[in-house]
Formats: sequence, structure tokens, C-alpha cells
Amino acid sequence: MNKKLLLLLVIILFISGCATAPVREALPVYSLNGTAYYSLSALCQSRGVSLKYDIYTRTANLIKDNHVIDLMVGDNLVLVDKRALLLKYPVDMHQGMIVVPAQFKELALDPLFKVARAPAKPREMPLGLFIKKVVIDPGHGGKDPGAIGRTGLKEKDVNLDIAKRLANRFRQEGVEVIMTRNSDVFIPLGKRVEIANNSRADLFISIHANANKTRSLHGFEVYYVSPTVNDSTRAAYAAKHFYLNLDSSYFASNSQTLKAILWDMIYTYNRAKSISLGRDICRAAGDNLNVRIIGVKDARFEVLRGTRMPAVLIEVGFLSNAREEQLLRDGHYRDKLAQSILEGVFDYAKKLQLLTFA
Ligand SMILES: [Zn+2]
Repeated sequence: MNKKLLLLLVIILFISGCATAPVREALPVYSLNGTAYYSLSALCQSRGVSLKYDIYTRTANLIKDNHVIDLMVGDNLVLVDKRALLLKYPVDMHQGMIVVPAQFKELALDPLFKVARAPAKPREMPLGLFIKKVVIDPGHGGKDPGAIGRTGLKEKDVNLDIAKRLANRFRQEGVEVIMTRNSDVFIPLGKRVEIANNSRADLFISIHANANKTRSLHGFEVYYVSPTVNDSTRAAYAAKHFYLNLDSSYFASNSQTLKAILWDMIYTYNRAKSISLGRDICRAAGDNLNVRIIGVKDARFEVLRGTRMPAVLIEVGFLSNAREEQLLRDGHYRDKLAQSILEGVFDYAKKLQLLTFA
């Protein structure tokens, strides 16, 4: 009798213990000035919350199920569904991550966004978490055919087809895509830059195919904005020609010099990211395609120079080379090209978490 009772008691304790066990959330805790901080992206991932960070304004938005939390790096004030909440400690940067004090987790995050009860198997970070919007620019078009292969294959058609395949893949990953052209039309370079800059996209990807008098020349290469172009000249040019997406109160004085300095910083930052992106795309292409990878090079293409976001121009192959023209004619190969670019962007996006925004 006593034994049975004991067994029952043990069973009851066991069951109630299981039932009341809290959902465990294994998150690394960082100590900043003696205060516990959490990685914002880790918190968002465990709750399925969408996180968008704007490097220009250093603001982040957390969105899920009609709830929004706005915060700013370096600031104690956060907006929880538009209602102000003053934290004891500010949102901060640590090891290149945005980190939030434990108080933010308790007062702002936990009441609004619950930890998923049965966390899905550890899957790769969704691309859409860090890359929300991409501009794809199929080179040439309309009266401008670009390079023409020996069998008559036109660069403008190859570029557009690869761009469309890439766009579909991005959309499947939840990334918004803006195309500078969707059909065989002529778009001036300045217009392409304008489309890119008005979009406030995270990335700009221009797609081209190469040609050279030396027909044996072949391979895949990626260009980024040239470091040899004078930065301050470019910054001054950009400040004059483009509206800067910063709070207008920053520019009450409308100082061209201040804008130029800011632009210089943004360009330097974007160039480093463009190089990183170019390398990741080349690596993915090397893994997927049986072609020579020439690598990442600097360029002074007008279309890259004016863009105010990380920007690369991909030369997918040489139409002047017989083998590569044949490859570029092949839909299956164009698919593999698009897939390689997507994978490169994916690798790049994963690294964004570790990049310092400051
Ligand atoms: Zn071209």
C-alpha cells in the first residue's frame, strides 16, 4: 500500500513537473558594464519575429502579428506598439551584433512575442531576415544589345533571363525584388541608378555577359566599386545628386559638406560589403559551375558608381568564347548561374550578423 502510494506520488510529481517545465530558451548572455544583454537577432529568431535594421539611422524594427517594436542603437527609449518605454540601459552594439538589455526582453519582447513552444529543427537563417529587398539590373536592353556571340546570342537576352530566374529564387526566399527592366527595353544607366537608390534596397546586383577580341578568354567574374575612384569627389557628387535617406532634421543646415562626409562613410562601408558579397558569389559559382572563376575586381562602371548600397556587377561569362556562348544558351546552365548568385548572397547575409554596423 505504502509502496503504491509512493509510486503514485512519484508519478504525479513527474507529470506535474513536466507540465510546468518552462519553455527553455538557450540564449547566450553578454555582460556589458555589469548588465546582462542578449543578441537581438537571436531573440527575434527564437520568436519568429521579423527584424529589420537600417544602417543609416541605426534603427531597428521588430514586427510580428501586427505588433511593432522600434528601437535605436545607443538609445534607452524604445517604442512598443508606438508607446514609449524607457529602459535603464541603452540598446547597444557588441561584437558586431545589436544587443538589448535583459530589461528589454522582460518588458518589451516577452509580453508581445512568445517563444515558439516547439522550436523547429535548427534551420538556416532565412535570407529575408537580413536581406529584405534586392534590386536586380539586367544589363543593356532594347536598342542596346550588349555583347553578341558568334552564333548571334545577345547579351541583353541572356542577362534578362538570368535576372528573372534569380528574381524568382529571391522571391521564394521572401525577399522583395525590384527589376530595373522586365522586358527588352532600353533603360539609360542614370535611370537604373535612380531606380536602385529610390528603392532603399539592401543590395544591387547588375547582371552582364562579357566579350573580348581574344576569343579564348573565358570565365566568371564580379566587379565592385573601384577604390581608385576619388571618394570625396564621388561623395560630393552623390550629395548633390541624391536625396539622402536620413531624418531631415539632421540636415536642417542642409550642409553639403556634412552630407559629403556622411556619403564618404557610407561609400567606404558599402565598398567593403560589396567586396565581401563579390567573394561569396564567386565562391558559390566555383562550387556550382564547371567554369573558370576569375574573381572579384574593381570597376568604374557608371551603374555601380552612383548606387548608394552594396553593389556588384556580375559578368557571368564570355559570349565571345565559343564554349561559354554555348553554356549561356542553355536554360539549365542559366538556372545554375542564378542559383550560384543566390547562394553567394545567402553566405553574405549570414556574415552580416557579424559585421560591425558602427
Ligand atoms: Zn554588358
